[in-house]
Order: sequence, then C-alpha cells, then structure tokens
Amino acid sequence: MDLSPGIPRTCQCGALTTVLTSGTSRNPGRKFYRYGAISGPNHVFKWLDEAHLEEFDVLASKQTMIIYDLAEIKKDIVELKNDMREIIEVIELIRTKP
Ligand SMILES: [Zn+2]
Repeated sequence: MDLSPGIPRTCQCGALTTVLTSGTSRNPGRKFYRYGAISGPNHVFKWLDEAHLEEFDVLASKQTMIIYDLAEIKKDIVELKNDMREIIEVIELIRTKP
C-alpha cells in the first residue's frame, strides 16, 4: 500500500485510522496507526513514531509555502492600496471640477 508521508489520517479503504499499541516482543508498547482491528496489505499500517517524524517534514514544507504565499498576498495588498489611492484621487478630481 502506497502511503503519503506523515500521519495517515485515513486508510485507503476510506476509514479513519486509529492509534493502537503493539504487543509483540519485537516492538512492545510501540504505537502505530491502523484502521481498527483490520490488517492486511490493503489497509494502512504505520508506526506512530515514524509517522510523526515524517509529519514534521510535511509541516515544514507547508510552512514554507504559507510564508511564500503570505509574502505574495502582502505585495498584492500594497498594489491594491496604491490602486485605491489612485482611484480616490481621480474621483476627487472629478468631484472638485466645476
Ligand atoms: Zn482500510
């Protein structure tokens, strides 16, 4: 099963995932994401600690994009303010014309 990086919030079958705790001797007490009690190649399985490490990278990428978008939005606001100022000047000119 192909998983995108980060926390698997839903399984490929569409179900919400849940956090369970391993009871095996290889990974005692280690938490993992899975869709309920159903396991198999078509259902999500991911160790929680690995998912969370991936999630940091996912969030860092999103944060970088948000910072870029915010800078673009700020530029747009400055341009819009300048446009509004010009429009107001033109309106004032028209109003004060005899
Ligand atoms: Zn599933």
